[in-house]
Amino acid sequence: MSRLLERLQGEIAALDAQSLRRRRQIAETACAPEQSLTLAGTTAPRTMLGFSSNDYLGLAAHPALAAAWAEGAARYGTGSGGSHLILGHSRAHAQLEERLADWMAPFIPEAQSLFFCTGYMANLAVLSALGGAEAVIFSEALNHASLIDGARLAKARVERYPHCDVAALDAMLGACDAPVKLIVSDAVFSMDGHLAPVHQLLALAERHDAWLVVDDAHGFGVLGDTGRGVVQALGLHSERLVLIGTLGKAAGVSGAFVAAHRTVIDYLVQRARPYIFTTAAPPAVAHALLASLTLIEGEEGAARRAALQARIAQLREGVKAVLPADGSACLPESPTAIQPLIVGDNARAMRTMAQLDARGLRVGAIRPPTVPVGTARLRIALSASHSRADVARLVDALGVALSQPMQEAA
Ligand SMILES: *Cc1c(COP(=O)(O)O)cnc(C)c1O
Repeated sequence: MSRLLERLQGEIAALDAQSLRRRRQIAETACAPEQSLTLAGTTAPRTMLGFSSNDYLGLAAHPALAAAWAEGAARYGTGSGGSHLILGHSRAHAQLEERLADWMAPFIPEAQSLFFCTGYMANLAVLSALGGAEAVIFSEALNHASLIDGARLAKARVERYPHCDVAALDAMLGACDAPVKLIVSDAVFSMDGHLAPVHQLLALAERHDAWLVVDDAHGFGVLGDTGRGVVQALGLHSERLVLIGTLGKAAGVSGAFVAAHRTVIDYLVQRARPYIFTTAAPPAVAHALLASLTLIEGEEGAARRAALQARIAQLREGVKAVLPADGSACLPESPTAIQPLIVGDNARAMRTMAQLDARGLRVGAIRPPTVPVGTARLRIALSASHSRADVARLVDALGVALSQPMQEAA
């Protein structure tokens, strides 16, 4: 075997030895709370009740969206045929961008939107295009990997500010005389579920003449009266706002958008390489997304948001009642579908996950370095499609697992 392959094998073996090797499972059925899954190294699928999907409104397998997808494919075919600047930009893409611009018009003056294949690419595009050599990027400490990678791709200098520390960020911005400043933050922190202080970040952007780039991956569809996300929930309004929303999570399809003042969007079309040098997503995806937006803003969306809120309340109440009296586990405040049950050490997180697994429940265990040392957690993600009984089953199983003494971890 070549030395190159041996090196890779060595690294994989090291991950294995630390129990850090990632393995995929194969979903045999559509995204839903109960799914048939085949785990790596096994052949027989198991039916599991899952609490780790991003399908927060339960739209990923909605028949209306599958029908819209099929209609889109019948009308436009399967492939877009090219990049957006060369033939690939269909009427469906244009309609979707217009619709999203309308959605964001109350929050961003002269709003336009730009559709991307994924949120990852949208973040690379925004940061690399706006973060030129003369710019400084102020990046929140807990930002998503795609924002970190976008900052790496940018020529701008990058300064990290402490989590939610508005005063520290204010001082950093005050000490910076770069002509272009970008404040970059997740709206909802993906491992914690709580919101960034977006109002205060926007006030700093106004005071220091900076852009505020907000990634609303976990808020879009979920937050706000009609699901327009963090901008609607908080009533934001500014031409400094550059909003990124993913469409593969609550919207149940795939892709992402950037919404901003039309000048910003014009500029991205000219300069954002992750927009320009890639094949446009299939028009059918955009066509299905138009149907998804209609669901999200209508009565069904409202009912699904209400169902999700009811499950969140049920879980929080249930888990608080079974938390150990010694304070060795906690459930920090989170108003979103992401609920972090912090259990402290890695072994306990893995053991709790295994106990849930034995009962047919799937919850992700998140360990350092993804989260700070000593805050290993079960990251519970709820969906409008979870039933009361689903959440009750999880709470029961957590009660049993958490009541066992810590020493058993050894
Ligand atoms: C999921 C996620 C993304 C990436 O979006 P995709 O459409 O999945 O590529 C970006 N930012 C955050 C905060 C996310 O959670």
